[in-house]
Amino acid sequence: MMKRVAVIGAGAAGLSALRSLVKCQNHLLNFVAFETSDRVGGTWIHNDPFKATSMYDRLVTNLPTDVMAYPGFPFSTDDERSFVGHKEVLKYLQRFAEHYNLLQHIRFRERVIEVDILSPESANEHDQWNVTVRNEESGLVTTHQFDYVLICNGHYTEPKLSNIQGLDTFDGEVLHSHHYRSPSAYKNKIVLILGAGPSGVDIAADLIDDASKIYLSHNKKASPVISNKVEMVSGIERVDGKDIILRDGKIVNSDVILLATGYRFSFPFMAKRCHPTISSNRVASLYRLLVDINHPSLYYVGLNQTIAPFPHFHAQTEFAAACISGEFSLPDRKEMEKQCDDLYQKLVTDRNEVEKHYHNLKEYQWTYIRELNHLLNRPPPTYVVENLYNHVHTVRQANSLLYKQSRYRLCNESHEGYVVVFEPS
Ligand code: FAD
Repeated sequence: MMKRVAVIGAGAAGLSALRSLVKCQNHLLNFVAFETSDRVGGTWIHNDPFKATSMYDRLVTNLPTDVMAYPGFPFSTDDERSFVGHKEVLKYLQRFAEHYNLLQHIRFRERVIEVDILSPESANEHDQWNVTVRNEESGLVTTHQFDYVLICNGHYTEPKLSNIQGLDTFDGEVLHSHHYRSPSAYKNKIVLILGAGPSGVDIAADLIDDASKIYLSHNKKASPVISNKVEMVSGIERVDGKDIILRDGKIVNSDVILLATGYRFSFPFMAKRCHPTISSNRVASLYRLLVDINHPSLYYVGLNQTIAPFPHFHAQTEFAAACISGEFSLPDRKEMEKQCDDLYQKLVTDRNEVEKHYHNLKEYQWTYIRELNHLLNRPPPTYVVENLYNHVHTVRQANSLLYKQSRYRLCNESHEGYVVVFEPS
């Protein structure tokens, strides 16, 4: 019997899902992706009129294209740069969609407004799903039935706002990195950026020539090296009018507080009875960080952070497609729960991490991909991407301002699988 599969979103994760599903077409799959926008690319659509993205004007990738690429589909070979602008990434995703004939499977301007169990009284591993969709042009609302849903709705649009005491009394401008677009708005201003994750560090570098001073406020043990213009200070304790009181007691003043405090997961379309439990920004009860143990026909793709996103999505969607096509059988509920608990131990307890960092995979991302491949009896990917990712991580720590000028080239003859063409000293 034909299995019906819905994919929510046609960003990098949704496109990966479609490529994986296309490859199993002989397994009698009938699939469709719903996408709010009028084009593919998600986050990488700058100023998308149909949805808010967090893309800013001069964003250059923080990973080299050889790390970013989906397995088997490299970025353009005639571009010598390793770190490219957001337009190049969007073009790459469009090329990917065209190359694998994915566009025919996408219904654009269709927003999923609800995913609910078809027959709640018989909830089990063979749940079926009512997916209700609103056409953004006509307003027409339709409901379709599916056997599986791959949730690829992206997780960089709902700002996570810190509860900073007195922030509402601040004299200047407060904004989240989600709304940051261009440094020109901050000419000759003092900007305090809260958070030294990828966005905070990247925006600090973007502001260097325009802002008169930048404070990078964070509680990390190691500080990234950016420039003399950027002063590292501790996290914010509270705000009182003009004064920003830091955790170490120091008081600083700025014109702007820019909250680079990350994003939170949001699944506004999931009906209450099948919404995943989210505790401390951890989406709980996922087998292999992907399959909803309570409803194993729901797959949450791309929730993890501190990863190489596209290769990660690829591993996840290949696994999901293998489960759907019957190539791989999920273990029983008890075993999935046990493995989920073991992973919690590994990612939180053993790493001495707080729960909110559960989805920050870091070095575990490579083991994760290898484990998924192993379960499918497929050869693991080579170490090249991992080696280059780790190398860039070290270079970025040492020089967060200039590392994007580096150029790398993949090379079979080198032991690591890549060579450094140029790196700023
Ligand atoms: P998205 O790109 O957000 O796509 C989700 C899609 O789902 C969207 O098109 C949206 O319209 C659609 N959608 C959502 N809800 C619905 C609904 N209800 N119905 C229908 N459609 C829906 N990654 C890198 O590899 N390198 C980088 O340098 C890098 N830099 C980044 C910089 C910034 C500022 C940000 C925010 C992210 C960056 N990332 C980077 C991470 C990036 O988000 C991922 O690479 C990837 O693009 C995420 O893809 P996604 O498909 O999960 O989500």
